[in-house]
Amino acid sequence: MNTLINFIQGNLNLITKALEAVGHKMEVIPDPSTVHFHLPGDLSVLVHREYDDFIRELISKFPHEEEGILKFYGTCWKIFNSLNSLELKSLEEPLYLFGQFFQKPLECLTLAYYLPQNAGDIARKFIKDQKLLSFIDAEVLCDRHFGGINYPVGGVGGIATSLADGLVHKGSEIRYKANVTNVILKNGKAVGVRLSNGKEFFAKTVISNATRWDTFGKLLKDKELPEEEKNFQKNYVKAPSFLSIHMGVKASVLPAGTDCHHFVLEDDWNNLEKPYGSIFLSIPTVLDPSLAPEGHHILHIFTTAGIEDWEGLSRKEYEQKKEVVANEIIRRLENKLFPGLKDSIVLKEVGSPKTHRRFLARNDGTYGPMPRGKPKGLLAMPFNTTSIDGLYCVGDSCFPGQGVIAVAFSGIMCAHRVAADIGIEQRSSALDAGLLGLLRWLRTLA
Ligand SMILES: Cc1cc2nc3c(=O)[nH]c(=O)nc-3n(C[C@H](O)[C@H](O)[C@H](O)COP(=O)(O)OP(=O)(O)OC[C@H]3O[C@@H](n4cnc5c(N)ncnc54)[C@H](O)[C@@H]3O)c2cc1C
Repeated sequence: MNTLINFIQGNLNLITKALEAVGHKMEVIPDPSTVHFHLPGDLSVLVHREYDDFIRELISKFPHEEEGILKFYGTCWKIFNSLNSLELKSLEEPLYLFGQFFQKPLECLTLAYYLPQNAGDIARKFIKDQKLLSFIDAEVLCDRHFGGINYPVGGVGGIATSLADGLVHKGSEIRYKANVTNVILKNGKAVGVRLSNGKEFFAKTVISNATRWDTFGKLLKDKELPEEEKNFQKNYVKAPSFLSIHMGVKASVLPAGTDCHHFVLEDDWNNLEKPYGSIFLSIPTVLDPSLAPEGHHILHIFTTAGIEDWEGLSRKEYEQKKEVVANEIIRRLENKLFPGLKDSIVLKEVGSPKTHRRFLARNDGTYGPMPRGKPKGLLAMPFNTTSIDGLYCVGDSCFPGQGVIAVAFSGIMCAHRVAADIGIEQRSSALDAGLLGLLRWLRTLA
């Protein structure tokens, strides 16, 4: 995972909130910019931390679209503020939903209006310039974080370590290297899990953080795929995986004032979503030099790549291919941003889609779900409940999708729904049945 992970302000600062809940707080460094885009036609756009500076910069590049830019980003701002003002809990829990509606009706109606819509369609209502629309599409790819990024001192790995530490401190037990091979069903209800070493664990509920493809395709492989999952697989495909390069380089290769996060697409907008087309780059040592030995920087570079490109190779061919593909990406960065990059490398490690599949246990190493056709808005995604009693799913193949803040939201939603189902939170069975039925029906329309 790269370093573009933030601690933001308001109710959406979910990482801070999760850490607070287990008694932890991390020291952070504010990043003065979010992403520096290097785009076709030598278009360079820096997404400043301050919203007004970013809007001013974008208008200076596209003065003929000033009105459209103000309207589109004004709408994004409205949606974000509505979301940020609500207490975020399960959207599958009607008592909470009604409570929020009575407290903040305007914000709820704003969200109800915009959530089923697609960001690209909203942009196209206000903006006509094709280049600017492509920039907005590239921004979506980049996990653009509203309100700026605050980088955790010591690296993003510290977030997981602090969270795990806090959970254990609160009395939880975490089993590492515990590979779940089956969800155990009894009379159609999920009652536990079986590990690859044969051990079994039983519980009132089972929550799967594996993707929905893995949960239903691997952990429940003996059961026929439920209708709702068929629908999900009909509407969403697995986004491709990634090729990652982690490098240590001599500090002298980076010009003074280099930003932390970059997005590079050199000559052709058509390559935006093609394998190896766009390059994402993060240099965390720009913000936190303590991460590398003095006089050095860390570069994390990644680009999309499909697993099919890496199958059927011998060990030697596989190693050679990693070298060839990585060298080409490094050559492109050398041409575009950092002359002399190749000669400055002191350490290099390359991970392929197979690495992602193996170490993250993700079907085909996928980045997550991607709408099969034209995106129908976020409400088309499944939430946390599943058609199997006692089984919940969480993570990036559930609403609201990919990204660390999004999956943290999914976790909070799931915890609330489970708490209601096991009687820790208030619930109404009649309202539950109505709302869950309505949501399922809405998804079938997607
Ligand atoms: C290269 C890269 C860069 C990214 N950069 C950013 C970024 O800058 N900002 C951002 O917000 N997001 C970023 N993301 C996306 C973000 O990392 C993901 O959306 C998020 O981590 C998904 O979380 P998850 O919990 O759904 O899945 P995962 O993070 O994949 O977690 C699932 C967990 O379940 C475990 N698991 C799976 N199957 C089993 C099993 N059978 N038994 C036991 N355990 C199992 C896995 O080992 C894993 O620990 C990036 C992703 C990639 C690949």
